Amino acid sequence: MIRAEQLHKHYQMGDSVVHALDGVDLSIKQGEFVAIIGASGSGKSTLMHLIGCLDRPTSGLLEINGELVSAMTEKQLAAARNSYLGFVFQTFNLINRTSALENVLVPLVYTRRAVQRATAKKALDRVGLLSRASHTPSEMSGGECQRVAIARAIVNSPRLLLADEPTGNLDTKTGDQIMQIFHELHAEGITIVLVTHEMDVAVQADRIISMRDGQIVEDTAVDQAQREQILIDAQSSFRKVFDQKAAARAKANDTDAHPKPEAAS
Ligand code: ADP
Ligand code: MG
Repeated sequence: MIRAEQLHKHYQMGDSVVHALDGVDLSIKQGEFVAIIGASGSGKSTLMHLIGCLDRPTSGLLEINGELVSAMTEKQLAAARNSYLGFVFQTFNLINRTSALENVLVPLVYTRRAVQRATAKKALDRVGLLSRASHTPSEMSGGECQRVAIARAIVNSPRLLLADEPTGNLDTKTGDQIMQIFHELHAEGITIVLVTHEMDVAVQADRIISMRDGQIVEDTAVDQAQREQILIDAQSSFRKVFDQKAAARAKANDTDAHPKPEAAS
């Protein structure tokens, strides 16, 4: 599905060159669910933009869905984006002044007009938001906006769905609902590549790729035992925080309840 060889992306910044990607080799098969993690500035978004055909590499080879996208013109990249790719961003990137339905219609410019609205409605229904079709993003919660963005990303039935920190702006519960949709889409056979900095999100994938300074420094399959351990650890660390808070509260209440005997003693 995705094959990258010695992928480089450099940005000229005045006199210096930023090596956003510094020789990435990568292979992702059809049907995989891959998480990419790494510190801020490590090149995750740059890699996603190249795979998403939103930008072109400075050098190296990039093949997606059997096509050599690293050699494509802007027009060909746009066609690739429309035919087999869906992209979900952290900040939703919706058009604010228009309805959810109109937002989902955006990628359907090349589709026959007669089928456009029905297809867009189906995608909105898929993320549980058909009843909000006429609402604008400003009338919706963050989680709902992200679901509209997912509907827009899947409206062309892509084989590959890319998501760059899709739960980064959402609370845990809403983030879990978004992850649930990704799991359902993955179960239907869509290849998913998702960037996150939350380990309990990353372990929901089948494979975790770690980036540092524009390079892949680790690439491992997630096994079920590891997944469960991290999810348990994540929970127990929360539990510890809550236990500490509860203990502090109990102590404060206790002091409040018995101020006089203590003062007298
Ligand atoms: P991440 O998503 O892991 O936080 P990015 O891919 O956004 O990292 O950025 C990688 C590096 O490339 C950073 O040093 C960043 O400042 C730089 N960079 C990203 N986009 C641009 C750009 N359009 N122009 C100049 N530098 C950029
Ligand atoms: Mg980023």
